[in-house]
Amino acid sequence: MDAGLRSLVRQRAGNCCEYCGIRQEHVPFPLFHIEHIIPKKHGGDDDPSNLALACHHCNFHPESTDKHYTNWRAARRLIANCQTH
Ligand SMILES: [Zn+2]
Repeated sequence: MDAGLRSLVRQRAGNCCEYCGIRQEHVPFPLFHIEHIIPKKHGGDDDPSNLALACHHCNFHPESTDKHYTNWRAARRLIANCQTH
């Protein structure tokens, strides 16, 4: 994943976690992480549609190999709204 792709995803997300909507400014550390919604080992690619900016909490995915969990992440990303406060 190159730097241009990373900044594209970060801009799209408005520096908010794309799963829960919390702003990076509210969580100065650790920095949000760009992750694959569908893991590469399950056929996911580096297309922006398969990438999401995630806070430390949402990036914690002990069951990332679970297909249901991948579906949950994809659905969650669509409903998350950036918190404005
Ligand atoms: Zn989050």
